[in-house]
Amino acid sequence: MEGRPVAEAIDRATRAAIQAVGAATPAPSLVSLHRGVDSPFQFYLKRQARAAQALGISFRDESLAAGDGPADLTARIRSLDRDPTVHGVLLEHPWPPPFDFLRSMEELRPEKDVDGVGPRNLGRLVGQRPIQVPAVARAALAIARHYQLPLEGEPVTVVGRSGTVGLPLALLLAGRPPGGNAIVTIVHSRTPDLRAALAGARTIFSCVGHPGLLDRTVVPEGAHVVDVGLSSVPDPGRPGSVHAVGDANATSLDGWVGSLTPVPGGVGPVTVAELMSSTVRSWRHLVRGEGGA
Ligand code: NAP
Repeated sequence: MEGRPVAEAIDRATRAAIQAVGAATPAPSLVSLHRGVDSPFQFYLKRQARAAQALGISFRDESLAAGDGPADLTARIRSLDRDPTVHGVLLEHPWPPPFDFLRSMEELRPEKDVDGVGPRNLGRLVGQRPIQVPAVARAALAIARHYQLPLEGEPVTVVGRSGTVGLPLALLLAGRPPGGNAIVTIVHSRTPDLRAALAGARTIFSCVGHPGLLDRTVVPEGAHVVDVGLSSVPDPGRPGSVHAVGDANATSLDGWVGSLTPVPGGVGPVTVAELMSSTVRSWRHLVRGEGGA
């Protein structure tokens, strides 16, 4: 299940939404805020910049200065929230202590929180009235819908329960439409028997970051696997460099599962497309008063 056709369909809708507003309005703009040049987030920044440029979204990345602390992060977010020329703000996460990511994100209005990971958006997701839903959760659901995986009324398992990936995805899958109406099981590191926990699942969403976790010894035959996990491992073909892998052992699952998303090329590009789509939704709300709370 390649992500590309799903990302292209989302991009087409995003382009149409931009065109519908008209050229007289300043273009949508997205700011990506991160910790600095050495962060692993650099990889995502390049993809975001490319995607934004292709859609006509203005993009800039900002980093905290060396020595900046939690108060500086909060102040920077507050300033971006008040800047009328900025329509979307995307934050690298997680942030190490003493940073308090959720506290700082309280300063950002939910529309501009285009990754949907601030406390106001997560709370609204629980209340089933989301403004912005975590982009990766939307991407995983979009892929499942595109490939018509069993969701509604079906046993679905989410592996991983972080507040920004696994839990929001589980909420989305279990929720009423536009959610998945699925019967959801959540699995985590304290689950004693992964094979037993996955037995009976028709669709599995893996959100862990543990290469090779899912193979045919634990995944039931015929299940569909959406691999959200993303880890960098040494590339055996190119000494000294790394490449991206998911949670699934694709070799072991080949010929065993109903379908599987690749890594790279599965959930990743769809997540970027969803981020751009959320930016344009926020822009339309802020410049035209459309949608929103
Ligand atoms: P995280 O905060 O480290 O959470 C990992 C989750 O996996 C935790 O809930 C953990 O359980 C669970 N877990 C760990 N080992 C396990 C095991 N052996 N069996 C079952 N569950 C286990 O990571 P995250 O931020 O949620 O991200 C998850 C993955 O998604 C990462 O690989 C990340 O890179 C990837 N990701 C991909 C995209 C994309 O666009 N493709 C976007 C965002 C994130 P506990 O809660 O018990 O510790």
